[in-house]
Amino acid sequence: MFDSVLIANRGEIALRILRACRSLGLRTIAVYSQADANLRHVALSDESLCVGPASAGRSYLNQEEIINAARLTGAGAIHPGYGFLSERASFAQAVEEAGLVFIGPESRAIRLMGDKVSAKRAMIEAGVPCVPGSSGELPYDIEAVSEIALDIGYPVIVKAAGGGGGRGMRIVRHERELAQAVAMTREEAGRAFGNPSLYMEKFLENPRHVEIQVLADTQGNAVWLGERDCSMQRRHQKVIEESPAPGIDREVIVEIGERCAAACRHIGYRGAGTFEFLYEDGRFYFIEMNTRIQVEHPVTELVTGIDLVAEQLRIARGEPLSFRQKDVQVRGHAIECRINAEHPWTFTPAPGKVNQWIAPGGPGVRVESHLYSGYVIPPHYDSLVAKLLTHAPSREEAIARMRVALGETVLDGVDCTIPLHRKLMDDPAFKLGGSNIHHLESLFEQGFGPNEESRV
Ligand code: ADP
Repeated sequence: MFDSVLIANRGEIALRILRACRSLGLRTIAVYSQADANLRHVALSDESLCVGPASAGRSYLNQEEIINAARLTGAGAIHPGYGFLSERASFAQAVEEAGLVFIGPESRAIRLMGDKVSAKRAMIEAGVPCVPGSSGELPYDIEAVSEIALDIGYPVIVKAAGGGGGRGMRIVRHERELAQAVAMTREEAGRAFGNPSLYMEKFLENPRHVEIQVLADTQGNAVWLGERDCSMQRRHQKVIEESPAPGIDREVIVEIGERCAAACRHIGYRGAGTFEFLYEDGRFYFIEMNTRIQVEHPVTELVTGIDLVAEQLRIARGEPLSFRQKDVQVRGHAIECRINAEHPWTFTPAPGKVNQWIAPGGPGVRVESHLYSGYVIPPHYDSLVAKLLTHAPSREEAIARMRVALGETVLDGVDCTIPLHRKLMDDPAFKLGGSNIHHLESLFEQGFGPNEESRV
């Protein structure tokens, strides 16, 4: 049991965690880099400590320094947020060994799901459908790899077992491209992830990205909390997320959701997590699990009314889930637009001073942001600066509310992606719902919006 939490993150998610801690009466400790002394959650926390210079490697990723900060301030638990140390099994283990509570799964589960080869194996055992592919790691012998590819059938995708962030994968359409693609991906995987092991999957041409949110406690209870459609992507990065996923049969969703909850019980999972799937022709194919809270978690909070971060804290305190699967009801429709400080058409990062920030409001509008007028966005970190969400009884009304909210929002001083979102709310395919993961890229190929005014 703990009564204080060190927040090992920054930006909007650090503020989100701080709010959840406070609502449960927990003391908060902020750690920040030298570039982040002006963050909103640092000002609001009960205690705060600088843990290093701007470079994330020497501050937010400095495991020893963060655990020291927890010791120094008497923190009982560490919440890693998303990104940074959230999926580093070594960090979860070091926290456990320091006698502190890691707010997330055990290091064992992070390790199992962090290696995509072992994750897929565990999912197949648990009865979760996966993309057809190699049964385990690819051999080094290229003849043998070629046989596996022929077996799966071209096109295939070669992926790094330790990959993440949309990196470390290559599509192969013809046998003649295989050897080079494997060699290049292996080299890249070794360099970028310190793990050269590869696997192979059938490449699905036009899938949607649909994921299932789960929560599991330490007493063996596991529930799923509906799905999120995150198909609107650029460079494998999510741009808009929504729930429910438009146009997918409820029975198919329920079936996959139940399997995810069962998989949590099977692997002894604890905390919040997300099973990511590709969805094509009425079927779900598991691609990976995120063993942490995700950027888009508020979409699920809006439709289910469940505070996922508060649940993470309760689970970490050893409390059983306060509700059962039958209590989880999805009401209405929720949409999230990610607002990044970057050029809306070129996606070039645009750090700098925010002259004015005016957040929207009104019924069914939620804003998750650490911005304030006069804040200077540092160039060292991810460019996500705000998440704008709307919730309404129907998808059409949620889009209508989003249009109004985007129109009200003022973010002056830096380029941001609001103009892109304003345009997307009027895109016929988005309005129809159910477009695939290539839709946004194809809009850009058709010259979507490059001449628009980029500042708001
Ligand atoms: P990462 O951990 O790097 O995000 P994922 O395995 O989650 O890697 O895949 C990221 C994205 O790559 C998916 O959302 C999808 O767009 C594409 N992708 C991955 N596997 C496949 C596949 N088998 N077929 C088609 N697209 C794929």
